[in-house]
Amino acid sequence: MNDKATGKPGEKKCDICSFGPPDWQYKCKKCRNVFVMPAPKGPSEEKNRKCPKCGSAEIERTDLVKSEACPPGG
Ligand SMILES: [Zn+2]
Repeated sequence: MNDKATGKPGEKKCDICSFGPPDWQYKCKKCRNVFVMPAPKGPSEEKNRKCPKCGSAEIERTDLVKSEACPPGG
Protein backbone atom coordinates (compact mmCIF):
# COMPACT_ATOMS: atom_id res chain seq x y z
CA MET A 1 0.00 0.00 0.00
CA ASN A 2 1.58 3.24 -1.08
CA ASP A 3 -1.59 5.20 -0.67
CA LYS A 4 -0.81 8.08 1.63
CA ALA A 5 -4.46 9.01 1.97
CA THR A 6 -6.50 7.45 4.73
CA GLY A 7 -9.54 6.91 2.54
CA LYS A 8 -10.37 3.81 0.58
CA PRO A 9 -8.55 3.30 -2.69
CA GLY A 10 -10.44 4.75 -5.60
CA GLU A 11 -12.57 6.89 -3.36
CA LYS A 12 -12.53 10.47 -4.48
CA LYS A 13 -12.28 13.06 -1.80
CA CYS A 14 -12.13 16.79 -1.91
CA ASP A 15 -10.61 18.99 0.76
CA ILE A 16 -13.97 19.51 2.37
CA CYS A 17 -15.11 15.90 2.26
CA SER A 18 -11.83 14.69 3.71
CA PHE A 19 -13.19 15.58 7.11
CA GLY A 20 -15.01 12.28 7.07
CA PRO A 21 -18.14 10.47 6.01
CA PRO A 22 -21.46 12.28 5.69
CA ASP A 23 -23.69 12.81 8.68
CA TRP A 24 -26.58 10.53 9.36
CA GLN A 25 -30.12 11.71 9.75
CA TYR A 26 -32.28 10.00 12.33
CA LYS A 27 -35.93 10.11 13.18
CA CYS A 28 -37.28 9.39 16.61
CA LYS A 29 -40.16 6.94 16.57
CA LYS A 30 -41.45 8.29 19.84
CA CYS A 31 -41.57 12.04 19.41
CA ARG A 32 -40.90 12.15 15.66
CA ASN A 33 -38.00 14.45 16.19
CA VAL A 34 -35.60 14.52 13.26
CA PHE A 35 -31.95 15.09 14.05
CA VAL A 36 -28.54 14.71 12.50
CA MET A 37 -25.50 13.04 13.98
CA PRO A 38 -22.06 12.23 12.61
CA ALA A 39 -21.71 8.76 11.15
CA PRO A 40 -20.86 6.33 13.97
CA LYS A 41 -17.40 4.77 14.11
CA GLY A 42 -18.85 1.41 14.98
CA PRO A 43 -22.06 -0.56 15.53
CA SER A 44 -21.86 -0.13 19.30
CA GLU A 45 -21.73 3.62 18.93
CA GLU A 46 -24.84 3.65 16.82
CA LYS A 47 -26.60 1.34 19.24
CA ASN A 48 -26.08 3.76 22.09
CA ARG A 49 -27.63 6.65 20.25
CA LYS A 50 -30.73 8.27 21.59
CA CYS A 51 -33.09 11.01 20.64
CA PRO A 52 -31.65 14.29 21.97
CA LYS A 53 -35.13 15.61 22.54
CA CYS A 54 -36.90 12.88 24.50
CA GLY A 55 -34.06 10.46 25.20
CA SER A 56 -35.75 7.52 23.51
CA ALA A 57 -33.53 4.89 21.95
CA GLU A 58 -36.20 4.06 19.42
CA ILE A 59 -34.70 5.94 16.55
CA GLU A 60 -34.30 4.98 12.94
CA ARG A 61 -31.83 6.20 10.38
CA THR A 62 -33.63 7.91 7.55
CA ASP A 63 -31.00 9.48 5.37
CA LEU A 64 -27.45 10.52 4.77
CA VAL A 65 -26.69 14.21 4.95
CA LYS A 66 -23.90 15.23 2.69
CA SER A 67 -22.03 18.42 3.13
CA GLU A 68 -23.69 21.19 1.20
CA ALA A 69 -20.35 22.86 0.73
CA CYS A 70 -19.08 19.95 -1.29
CA PRO A 71 -20.00 20.08 -4.98
CA PRO A 72 -21.06 16.84 -6.67
CA GLY A 73 -18.21 14.84 -8.08
CA GLY A 74 -15.72 17.12 -6.50
ZN1 LIG B 1 -37.64 11.61 20.63
